[in-house]
Amino acid sequence: MPTDTPDATAGDWLRRSRDVVARARLGVRSVGLGHVVRIADGIAIVSGLAQARMHELLRFQHDHMGFVLSLDEDTLAAVLLDDDGSVEAGSEVLGTGEVLRVPVGPGLLGRVLDPLGRPLDRDEPVAAADHLPIERPAPAIIERDLVSEPVATGVLVIDAMFPIGRGQRELLIGDRATGKTSLAVDAMINQKHSDMVCVYVSVGQRAHAVQQVIEAVRAHGAPERTIFVVASASASAGLQWVAPFAGFSIAEYFRDRGQHALIVIDDLTKHAATHRELALLTHQPAGREAYPGDVFYLHARMLERAAKLSSARGGGSLTALPIAQTEAGNLAAYIPTNLISITDGQIVFDTSLFAADQRPAVDVGLSVSRVGGKAQPPVLREVAGQLRLQYSQFLELELFTRFGNLSDTRVKAQIARGRAIRALLTQPRFAAQQLPEQLAQLAALDDGVLDDQPADLIAELRRQLPARLAEGQPIPIGDALDPSTRNALVKRVRELVAGIAAAKGAQA
Ligand code: ATP
Ligand code: MG
Repeated sequence: MPTDTPDATAGDWLRRSRDVVARARLGVRSVGLGHVVRIADGIAIVSGLAQARMHELLRFQHDHMGFVLSLDEDTLAAVLLDDDGSVEAGSEVLGTGEVLRVPVGPGLLGRVLDPLGRPLDRDEPVAAADHLPIERPAPAIIERDLVSEPVATGVLVIDAMFPIGRGQRELLIGDRATGKTSLAVDAMINQKHSDMVCVYVSVGQRAHAVQQVIEAVRAHGAPERTIFVVASASASAGLQWVAPFAGFSIAEYFRDRGQHALIVIDDLTKHAATHRELALLTHQPAGREAYPGDVFYLHARMLERAAKLSSARGGGSLTALPIAQTEAGNLAAYIPTNLISITDGQIVFDTSLFAADQRPAVDVGLSVSRVGGKAQPPVLREVAGQLRLQYSQFLELELFTRFGNLSDTRVKAQIARGRAIRALLTQPRFAAQQLPEQLAQLAALDDGVLDDQPADLIAELRRQLPARLAEGQPIPIGDALDPSTRNALVKRVRELVAGIAAAKGAQA
């Protein structure tokens, strides 16, 4: 008889299990042997594991893994991490005495992994420096420092109006297909100019969408400093539930070593739905809004792990960009309000702005960044200080003046300025702007160089500006924008605008 029949494998497995139990009796490890009472929908009710702990890793028949999600008096509910239907009622379960852990370390950089750290990109196992539990306590207040260093996203509307600081949690929220993922990916890509490590966690996304993110980072960013943790839509509910926690532990490895990390979670709405599904299946007590199991506490303790650490703790940081989806722009729904109250601000994406070709489709009125202002480079703050006010006033004026004609010159000037701001804030994907470009454009805007210029000219300016700023004598950017630097920057923009206008005129 061939040895690899299911029976032989099961026999092997049992022998190995008993071996471990025997070792445990010798004091090697505290484990136990239990039985599956019933199993359905990827949830196994297990009896006989009285010593089991929350989140303890369980080994089922045929090397299937699961973890403890809830504990009852005589039984426990375990979530199977990969379920192919071979685990049945009556089959034996081995407690491992260990909570669910993920491999962490620099060996993960550049890799695509599932939430347990198993490679999805190639057949080579990850070289782990260590293993960390998926749930770890957030740093205490005394271990933290104020958010004071910027995370440059390269996206002008964010860096100028809603700056993000290292250690901040900024929610990206909006309806379906409004550019949430794109903005997060642009922010990750721009870290090729920084020392930040990026962790992208995909929860319940289509495999094709995840592939596009990975390819975008590989083509434009710093893939060697990025880790992808993927539990796509087809992964088991257990894996999807674990993914963001695993991502945090993977990112914390860097935070705790004085390095800086950025974690994107795409997205927490799907994670909340998975949590709801598992909570219902394990009969957890009903919570608010038909969400059994306290999803607010779950997400709050997860996002609290993003922090800027004090210098005594090495001064590292972990910045989180969780993504959430809304239905018909409803920010007042249960999960959106939860997440808005947990984070330090939100970037709101709007369907109608997206439809009107404003990309990124950021709603300037509803978006806010609560702690990042202190981390914004002072030079940028100098030129961007008035931007949000000017733009908001323009949006109101635009509504008012839509039907009347404009006679007041002051109103005309405000509208011209507003249109220029709108053109500046429209930015294609993969077109990150570095600080000198951002400064040059905003200083030129302030000096009126861009008023009354058509949007396509401003788009062309954005394309040509990096090369123009790199030409000739480099313009040094210090901590403050001294008048000569400012003039030099504006002069180059002015020349470029004149050049583009002349070229357009010659073409016409
Ligand atoms: P989903 O809800 O499906 O996850 P999403 O909100 O994450 O969607 P994206 O997938 O990022 O949205 O973007 C939707 C579409 O908009 C994509 O085709 C993307 O290429 C396009 N897009 C996003 N941002 C920009 C931009 N700045 N310029 C041009 N196109 C953009
Ligand atoms: Mg998306």
